[in-house]
Amino acid sequence: MPELPEVETITRGLAQRVTGDVVESVWLGQKKGPLKSSASEIAATLEHSRIASVHRMGKHIVFDLEQDLVARALSPAKSGGARQKSTRSGTPPPQALPVALASADRSVRPTRSQWIVHLGMTGRLQVCEPQTEVAKHTHAILGLSSGRELRFVDPRRFGRLSVARAADFDAGGIEPLEIDLSRFLALFRGRKTPIKSALLNQKLLRGVGNIYADESLFRAGIRPRRRASTLTREQLGKLFVAVKEVLREAIALGGSSISDYVDADGEEGFFQLQHRVYGREGEPCLVCKTAIKRVVIAGRSSHYCPRCQR
Ligand SMILES: [Zn+2]
Repeated sequence: MPELPEVETITRGLAQRVTGDVVESVWLGQKKGPLKSSASEIAATLEHSRIASVHRMGKHIVFDLEQDLVARALSPAKSGGARQKSTRSGTPPPQALPVALASADRSVRPTRSQWIVHLGMTGRLQVCEPQTEVAKHTHAILGLSSGRELRFVDPRRFGRLSVARAADFDAGGIEPLEIDLSRFLALFRGRKTPIKSALLNQKLLRGVGNIYADESLFRAGIRPRRRASTLTREQLGKLFVAVKEVLREAIALGGSSISDYVDADGEEGFFQLQHRVYGREGEPCLVCKTAIKRVVIAGRSSHYCPRCQR
């Protein structure tokens, strides 16, 4: 499952490839599962939109779109350009919604919206030439003005596509790489839950997953079961540093595999951060040689060194 650093890496790769491109056509598959907004809403929002930028929010990939309403209304030949693959039956996206030109702002300022992609467990976004064979489990194909296609493929269908027509998508929680120390302390101080559960709580920090929570706690010398409220300010300060450090290191490692991943059709392609505790149950701690322990907290495996972490 892609975690925050992987999503950041994928997002950077996409930003390099599709920023400035215009979505000319939209094809959506028949499976409703991956669609969090309606098919017609997604198609109408994406068609004839320019991809102004791509950024990550938690574990979501957000495409910032710009629509020039006037240009859109003046190109009827292209409207409703939903492509139908001859070999596939799909839900043809409906005609672009009739744009209320009368009420549209006639100035050149484009309207903004967003396309939001969550990769779930097995989702991936592929930038490719149109002649590239359409992979099984392809749920969306965007035809781009550059002649390429941006495809969303997801065998297990935990991934999600949605649009925010007012460009106001909010993933909830605070970005772990942007939070400052005082807000970090305020988030965790006084919580009665195990610190591990608090780290995974997406309403607090968004995008910290199981692996990076375990690795951060090891570096901070804190046992995953410790109640957040029992941690000293100093310990929380160490955790604050560790969370950022672990995520940044993983992003730096992922940076070299961007192109591999976006094009690849497997999940390989990432250089994993060298785990110090995660998945190392029974193996010697890299610092003190004590056997790493595994416990289950709130249904999730947690790994720690009983000597280094208190
Ligand atoms: Zn140890």
